[in-house]
Amino acid sequence: MIISGFGETGQRKLNVAHVVVAGIGGLGSPASSYLAAAGVGHLTIIDSQRVELSNLNRQVLHWGPDVGRLKVESATEKLTAINSNIKVDAIFEQITSENVDQLTKGVDAVVDGMDNYPTRYLLNEACVQNRVPFIHGAVEGLVGQLMTILPGGRPCLKCAIPKEPPKKPLFSVLGATPGVIGCLQAMEAIKLITGMGKPLVGRMLIFNGMDMNFDEIEVNRDPSCQVCSRQNR
Ligand SMILES: [Zn+2]
Repeated sequence: MIISGFGETGQRKLNVAHVVVAGIGGLGSPASSYLAAAGVGHLTIIDSQRVELSNLNRQVLHWGPDVGRLKVESATEKLTAINSNIKVDAIFEQITSENVDQLTKGVDAVVDGMDNYPTRYLLNEACVQNRVPFIHGAVEGLVGQLMTILPGGRPCLKCAIPKEPPKKPLFSVLGATPGVIGCLQAMEAIKLITGMGKPLVGRMLIFNGMDMNFDEIEVNRDPSCQVCSRQNR
């Protein structure tokens, strides 16, 4: 509360905020942990998977004894242990075109903790349509990316990445990489809710852990974008 621009008002805003964390893996674990610790009053976590041994290098909310459990169950337990004053809704479901609207409508922000582009695109579209801020993050190896998508004529994820990047046969990631990006996603969500600072809108942040640098790429709105050109005016 003693952070300039945050104050008691900022803390109260967090307390009444509702954030959806879509995917409670490598990105969702650090993002939701920091949101819970910061006092975001209502978290909805969505995941359709169970904890596997190979997840443990990066999905830090899930521990050795959790292998085989539902990720949402394991995560709810840890998040409420971090902060018992918040409400955590666990949704054990796959995000589809049928449920994405209902899962994201009316919330203060959606954090992208997915590991695939088709679902990211679904979330992007639903968020643009429902005017919900969407905080995109993605990682691979020692590289990560971050972008905040706000409604109202701002570039969306499809403007930035129109087509799904080619898939590598094997997904590999150094655990600390989603740690970096997930923390930044939590920070963006907290900034949006409290109104602090300048969000990462219209620019994609690229983190390269191999060279240890951050780069920024300007992202412009594609006037013919099928997602945001229909909704934004
Ligand atoms: Zn767009």
